[in-house]
Amino acid sequence: MYYGVDIGGTTAKIGAFKNDKLIDSWQVETQVESLEKLVNNIVDSIKEKDKNILGLGIDVPGFIKDNVISSSANLHFLDGVNLEEAFKKAINVPIKVINDANCHALGEAKYAKLDNIIFVALGTGVGGGFVLNGQVLEGANGAGMEIGHIHVDDKYNFRCGCGQVGCLETLCGQKGVHNLVDYYRNSLATKLEVDYTVKDVFDLARGNDPLAYKAFEVFTDKLGLALANVSALFNPGTIIIGGGISQAGDFLINHIKTNFLKYATPVVRDTKIILASLGSNAGMYGAYYLIKDLVKEQQ
Ligand SMILES: [Zn+2]
Repeated sequence: MYYGVDIGGTTAKIGAFKNDKLIDSWQVETQVESLEKLVNNIVDSIKEKDKNILGLGIDVPGFIKDNVISSSANLHFLDGVNLEEAFKKAINVPIKVINDANCHALGEAKYAKLDNIIFVALGTGVGGGFVLNGQVLEGANGAGMEIGHIHVDDKYNFRCGCGQVGCLETLCGQKGVHNLVDYYRNSLATKLEVDYTVKDVFDLARGNDPLAYKAFEVFTDKLGLALANVSALFNPGTIIIGGGISQAGDFLINHIKTNFLKYATPVVRDTKIILASLGSNAGMYGAYYLIKDLVKEQQ
């Protein structure tokens, strides 16, 4: 069978696929003591179940250039590592490694049977991936479609984790919501407790709480702006919204659509904006499609 492996900061999710269907999945701890332990822990857990492994697709949180991880956000010990080579030492089957956000985009695109999509993950920050003509756009440094770092703001000037100011991520995603709530808390009335989640903010925004609605309004406005700009460049046809915050569902999607149309040039106004389908399984699916297609191409 083919396997899709989604390596995260604390756990690695492993999915077994047959005829494009996820038929089994489990998790192992992401071993951070050494590269060897990380690799062997994953490979051994698959070997235990399957003696006829056809290939492994693997996604990691990090940029990949020429198969080498240049910078990993959560797993710094992988910086400078050729992970593909490390896995090939442990098991002699076809292996391919990909950036996690790009992998999620590929999973959602292939699952929806779409060749051109932008995928946006609204989580702690704002991640993204882009599939063009069925292929993931990786770019020169593996940083293609880093939509979270498009410059969209000259008013708030919140500092971004990347070192810049005014990135989309400073106003969208969990960090963005917290920035905006902090900024307006003293000037706008609210029922929002001091300890809150993004879901609390969106729930109150639905009820027109002034502070919560302001944060929601800026969030969806700037996301609409960024998506309109990216659409003018690449005409993706479909924008897929995922990540934990996308659980806000239609309320969120409808406001993103309205704001997208505010900024979009006429020829891309028919772009569909939809919710992601695969949830936390997107990484496993993307990694699976990646390796399956690669093996098929080589046959
Ligand atoms: Zn940034």
